[in-house]
Amino acid sequence: MEDDDDDLCININGVSHTILCGICKEKISLIGEADVETRQAGCAPCGNVSDVQEVARIATEYAKDEAQLMLNRMARDTVRQRKFMTFSGQTEHNETYRFIITDLQF
Ligand SMILES: [Zn+2]
Repeated sequence: MEDDDDDLCININGVSHTILCGICKEKISLIGEADVETRQAGCAPCGNVSDVQEVARIATEYAKDEAQLMLNRMARDTVRQRKFMTFSGQTEHNETYRFIITDLQF
């Protein structure tokens, strides 16, 4: 499998998202030899490196969490315009993800 584009991506709802380092928000890359069995990927400057499967798992978890937060933020903004309603859901991540994605949309 030859690929000129080194960016690591995961597919969410049919859309490819580039995985970023959760610490510095830079693109991550594959690390080490291409033909080893368990490839590693991550952000070398941050020392934020994991197995590729683990990277994908964390980024997917982030995406799920982020999707819920986006819905909550929308609900909060709707509620803000109505005087007698309050919204108490979570709108920010309460844990730090080592790997994240951007451009998540519905
Ligand atoms: Zn980093």
